[in-house]
Amino acid sequence: MLSWEQTPSLEPMRCCRAWVEINLAALKHNVQQFRSLLPAATQLMAVVKANAYGHGAVTVAQTALQAGASWLGVATVPEGIELRAAGLQAPILVMGAVNSTAEIEAMAHWRLQPTLVSPKQALVFSETLAQMAATRPLEVHLKIDTGMARLGYPWAEAVDFVRFVQPLPHLTIASLYSHLATADEPDRTVLQQQQQRFNTAIAALHQQRLLPPRLHLANTAATLADSALHYDQVRVGLGLYGLYPAPHLRHRIDLQPVMQVKARITHIQAVPAGTGVSYGHKYVCDRPMRLAVVGIGYADGVPRALSNRLQVMIQGHLAQQVGTITMDQLMLDVTHIPHLQAGDVVTLLGCDGQHTIGPDDWATMTNTISWEILCGFKHRLPRIAVERPLSTPATAQSQG
Ligand SMILES: *Cc1c(COP(=O)(O)O)cnc(C)c1O
Repeated sequence: MLSWEQTPSLEPMRCCRAWVEINLAALKHNVQQFRSLLPAATQLMAVVKANAYGHGAVTVAQTALQAGASWLGVATVPEGIELRAAGLQAPILVMGAVNSTAEIEAMAHWRLQPTLVSPKQALVFSETLAQMAATRPLEVHLKIDTGMARLGYPWAEAVDFVRFVQPLPHLTIASLYSHLATADEPDRTVLQQQQQRFNTAIAALHQQRLLPPRLHLANTAATLADSALHYDQVRVGLGLYGLYPAPHLRHRIDLQPVMQVKARITHIQAVPAGTGVSYGHKYVCDRPMRLAVVGIGYADGVPRALSNRLQVMIQGHLAQQVGTITMDQLMLDVTHIPHLQAGDVVTLLGCDGQHTIGPDDWATMTNTISWEILCGFKHRLPRIAVERPLSTPATAQSQG
């Protein structure tokens, strides 16, 4: 498929029907805000899995590293390879589970650091690397489960786990880590239990002189919630993209949204009262109206569940979306906005004049979380890096 980079005449901000704008100034600002919470020795891992939460992994990774992050976190081996192939040199942790020989070989080749969750898996890694006659040891990260019930070896058996892995040839233990299940909730009961379990495992390892060189536990929410959760490294995803995991965590630092989603009006028409709009005629005009067709739909990441509820911004006005959102297009009531024409730009997420609409707004309306809204923007939308001035913290507060 020909991309707009190969055909400069299709440069998105001039003519494409829809695109995602990534404000690198906001991204750098957010990285610096997190850095300001951390002592110099504490590492900041930029979590760039899922194409950097829909923002574009390579550009985000490069920018985050320039701004003060020192590690990259991904979920899968191909995500790690994409970063290495783009020339990124920083250490990369693969947080998902890896078992296949092909993936282990690729990890060694591309210097991607695995998460190990059991002695058995560690043995497979060690044996595969031996068969490859790997020349240098692979740095591995041991994950213990302290209460997420996803990946990790039981926390109470951390000593056995480390004792098993430590002597294995071709592996070097780089860190011990765990993941929190409820760090974004105001009630800290489960969080404290997980923290205690992590600390108990650490104390036991310390006593046996088996403590790995680095420890980490915190995602964005935990990083904002409590510096006692920072340990030697924090793994920050959502916050880098300018969103808060929960309202009660907003006060610590100023975060600025990085993503804006924009699309063009492709067609405008006047319709009489009684006109049924889009599939199923779920909207019927109660008066003569002017409708604008916009070139973006659910295949691009606009949830179909927002049909008839979505509001967008055009030239400082709000406009109501009407009818079912289709795969590639949606319709707006623009009766109240004068002088619009095909080619004019609509902002779906971002700000325009007095108005701001964020992923949190869409998440609330569709009963999901902002993480899923961000990841929902797929490859069909070009990512355009821009450097825009930041809004003042006071304006940012009113968002989402
Ligand atoms: C995705 C992920 C993170 C980042 O979470 P945010 O809430 O987006 O900061 C951190 N650690 C692990 C293990 C993850 O899978």
